[in-house]
Amino acid sequence: MKAEIMAVGTELLLGDILNTNAQYLSKQLALLGIEVYYQTVVGDNAKRLLGAFELAFKRADIVIATGGLGPTDDDITKEIGGKYFGLEMIENEEAIKNVEDYYKDREMPESNRKQGFVPKGSKVFYNHNGTAPGCMIEKDGKILIMLPGPPYETQPMFEEYVIPFLKEKSDFTIESKVLHLSGIGESKAAEAVADIMNESENPTVAPYAKPNEMIFRISAKGENEEKAKEIMKPVIDEIYKRLGKYIYGEDNTTLEEAVIKRLEEKSFSIATAESCTGGLIAGKIVDYPGASKVFIDGVVSYSNESKVKRLGVRKETLEKYGAVSEQTAKEMAEGVVKALGADVGISSTGVAGPDGGTEEKPVGLVYIAVCVEGVTTVRKLNLKGERNRIRGRVVTEALNLALEVI
Ligand code: AMP
Ligand code: MG
Repeated sequence: MKAEIMAVGTELLLGDILNTNAQYLSKQLALLGIEVYYQTVVGDNAKRLLGAFELAFKRADIVIATGGLGPTDDDITKEIGGKYFGLEMIENEEAIKNVEDYYKDREMPESNRKQGFVPKGSKVFYNHNGTAPGCMIEKDGKILIMLPGPPYETQPMFEEYVIPFLKEKSDFTIESKVLHLSGIGESKAAEAVADIMNESENPTVAPYAKPNEMIFRISAKGENEEKAKEIMKPVIDEIYKRLGKYIYGEDNTTLEEAVIKRLEEKSFSIATAESCTGGLIAGKIVDYPGASKVFIDGVVSYSNESKVKRLGVRKETLEKYGAVSEQTAKEMAEGVVKALGADVGISSTGVAGPDGGTEEKPVGLVYIAVCVEGVTTVRKLNLKGERNRIRGRVVTEALNLALEVI
């Protein structure tokens, strides 16, 4: 089965909106073992959209289109999709209900009626997050799936309707597991499992380094989900055997989630004292919905005076070693623990640039510290890149260090 992704919308061609649907859909289709040879972007123009469908179906069995399902005149995807298959537009009960449900507490604008129409014979996908129902036409061995444009509507609809449909169509299933590692570099981790990566064809093991993150994806092909999982298991077990102490989570786990769970396990609370990251570490922790169970408070302590006043860093330390130093990082982490009554304190202090670097303390020199029940570990980082990249890296490194020592 070959698929083509068709993003519809003039705003995409103008560069106003990034085509994230193509990325999402490509990724999902790869996970399902469906090959994508082309991604197309086409504006809200009837002639060109029809041409794009004609071309797409010459080279793919399935076309997944997103966008252009709205109520306005330039939303034409369903009409043109129907036209390609020679199907008239008819009012569909499910589709109308979808639109009416959405407007049950308000008056429905007349233009939204249009969203109740789909090409005759379509299967309708209910949209729980908006007015635009999706739909699918299956005819003459070709499949056209049409989904709404906003990603928060596209994705749940894809997961609810399209994934089960595609799994059913395919005579095999691809299952995969993602392992997240911290505290080990990419090349070292890959070396440790190089033999498996080279020799194993099913499952496959692929490392991929996202910014500041080391990930292994294990994917297996099997007749069904259960078989595919069975095929994966021995390899996953072996990777755990070799690298288990670095694996902090599976699948959609994030580093902040892993840190928070670790804190919860130990009934520890945490507080942050941030200089060069200016609250980014606290922000990352709070990204996780369960953060309130462990996170007490964060201090953004940028000036030397603040480090003294709010965190109790000693003046002599700042004078002797400077704000960007192992000693200051240590006193910041210990200070925030004391000031806020936390079990764990995390601190950051560094030169994020672009100015402020010296020969002795260049841009990218950062110290992070984690204090756990009175024991403090400091790590020196030499980071490269521009300011925000450096600050982003510091957040990950600080959470990594926290996982290592808590
Ligand atoms: P539409 O279904 O055409 O009314 O799409 C409405 C909105 O969805 C657009 O204004 C974008 O914000 C978003 N959108 C549409 N297509 C895409 C796409 N390919 N990737 C990301 N967002 C999109
Ligand atoms: Mg549009």
